[in-house]
Amino acid sequence: MAKSYRPQHILSSNTKTGCSINLPIKHHCRPTKNCSKTCYARSGYTALPNSLRKQEWVSKYLSGGDISELIRECSSKTAVRLSGTGDIQTEHLPNLLRLARACPATQFWGMTRKLEIAKALNGELSNLRLMVSVDSSSPKAVWKYNGTLCYGPRLKTDRVPNMKNLRTVFPYHSRGRVVNDMPTHPKDCQAVWHNIDGCLQCRRCWTWK
Ligand code: SF4
Repeated sequence: MAKSYRPQHILSSNTKTGCSINLPIKHHCRPTKNCSKTCYARSGYTALPNSLRKQEWVSKYLSGGDISELIRECSSKTAVRLSGTGDIQTEHLPNLLRLARACPATQFWGMTRKLEIAKALNGELSNLRLMVSVDSSSPKAVWKYNGTLCYGPRLKTDRVPNMKNLRTVFPYHSRGRVVNDMPTHPKDCQAVWHNIDGCLQCRRCWTWK
């Protein structure tokens, strides 16, 4: 990466979530088998060289000492999705807590496959909430997490368990469209089905206790 590189904006924009902090997949994600096969971030705009360069830069920035620019960008937002791509690393935790404290009017939300990340961030601040992602190929230990879960990718043949702490289901979608012949599920994200404009119309993924 060239030393002089700096993205114009640290946040990335997204038609569904509005804005997000996008992180790399490489060395960051701990994918399940299903996740590896279906990952939305491995194709399209988020997989272009410029996006990958920005994701790397954002990860280093979040591990660094000065996040004032990110605080400035986030403070005017209603909600910011964490790890719009990729996943959070332990090195990011101090700055994510600092960011949420500095922007009390902004809701920080998202999902992670890493139990230790969800446990480190949830319960610390009311404007910071992470769901743990599970799918039919997730290890048993992840299902035992007693906080809020989300399910995805939901494959056509999956039977989603009826669990109270399972908040949102994400049907397998690719390049902005749910794959053909996908049945619906009552907990499906309605933005993925294009029934609503996006997260600010819904807020289900962060309005849990
Ligand atoms: S369920 Fe609602 S808040 Fe969650 S991702 Fe879908 S639209 Fe956004």
